[in-house]
Parts: sequence; structure tokens; C-alpha cells
Amino acid sequence: MSNKSIDRRGLMLVISSPSGAGKTSLSRKLMEEFDDVVLSVSATTRDPRPNEEEGTDYYFKSRETFQQMIAEGAFLEWAHVFDRFYGTPRADTEAKLDAGQDVIFDVDWQGADALHDQMPNDVVSVFVLPPSIEALRDRLAKRPGSTPENVDRRMADAEKEIRHWRRYDYCIVNDDFDAAYSQLRRILLTERMKRLRQRRLEPLVRGLLGEG
Ligand code: 5GP
Repeated sequence: MSNKSIDRRGLMLVISSPSGAGKTSLSRKLMEEFDDVVLSVSATTRDPRPNEEEGTDYYFKSRETFQQMIAEGAFLEWAHVFDRFYGTPRADTEAKLDAGQDVIFDVDWQGADALHDQMPNDVVSVFVLPPSIEALRDRLAKRPGSTPENVDRRMADAEKEIRHWRRYDYCIVNDDFDAAYSQLRRILLTERMKRLRQRRLEPLVRGLLGEG
């Protein structure tokens, strides 16, 4: 294959963190730096918001279609949240991996577990931790629209999420953004070199051994 980017199978970079720990900014920067890193596009039964586009933000589905897709096993994982369904399409993910794209999943620990169960050889999981509870509270309080009540609620949610940190392959403490980003990109670059992901190795080694 002449296209260098598809000499390898992409990986599934599953990133979780309590909200406010910096996961979204880290993911965004990775996609800015690397053309072949993309965000997973989920399917949902909720209505599109004004600025959202089909296929970019979500695949918008009717309830009936979504339920049929569940029955057909079309999702790697799915969840029922606030009476709406959300799910990760299996075929879409598989096509991206096959095309050599690394796919970022911004999911909580339950989503991370489910993805790992389905695709154990493809998932690389990263948990982003805040440097201290004060720093987390400070970041949440500085968000636009934050109120003391929603900061308290997010702090309680954060604690629940942090309890699951041991399930992840890697943990990054996001004290300094540039240092945390540098760690994340090294994880990506190293994981890309895993033997299982490098497609050229089999034919190369067959040639080296005079077997091809
Ligand atoms: P929103 O409706 O604001 O876009 O998302 C609501 C919630 O659904 C968020 O917490 C988001 O993480 C979750 N969500 C979005 N896509 C998926 C998915 O594919 N699987 C799961 N399990 N949750 C999702």
C-alpha cells in the first residue's frame, strides 16, 4: 500500500476525566496537531442543537432506528441518558481504524469499560487527573455559567469518576497544560508502534526470512 497513513491500524484513544480536568482541551490539541486523529461520532435520539451537523457532531436517529440498531449489534456500546439514547457505531469506528485513523472517545468510565470489552486490542485508555481538589474546584468555578450549586454537583460527580482511575492504562496529572499535552502525544506516538498495529511487519519479516 503506497499510502503511508494506512500502513498501520488506527487505535482507539479512550480519554476520561472528571469535568474540569482538561480532557477536552487535550483532545482538541491532539486533533489540531495530527490530521489522522479524529473524534468518534456517536449516534443519538436527541434533536440536533442549532449549530450541530449530522455526521460531524452526531448521527441523529429516530428511537425506532436506534432500537433496531441495538438489536442488530450496531453499537460498540450505548447508554440511555435523560431519556435519550447515545451509542458508538461499530461500523464507523471499524472503518476509521482500518483507514489508519486514531479515534478519540470522550467517555466516562462505564463507556471506557464497555469499549475495552468490545475492542481489547484497539483501546488505549487514558485518565486525566487534576493536580488537586482545589485546582479542580477553581477550574469549574471559572467556567462560563457556573453557579455554586452546579460547581458542587460537578465536584460530587468528579469524585465518583476519579474512583475508577485504576481501570486505565495511563494516567496524566494535568498540572501544567503543555506538560500534560506532551505526555498525551508521547502515549499516542508510542502506542502507534505496537507490533499488532503495524501492518507492514508481517510481509517485511517474511521477506527478511526469505519466506515471501
Ligand atoms: P449531549 O446531549 O449534551 O451531547 O450529551 C449528553 C451526554 O451523553 C454526555 O454526557 C455524553 O458524554 C454522553 N454521550 C454522548 N455520546 C455517547 C456515546 O456514544 N455513548 C455514551 N455512553 N454516552 C454518550
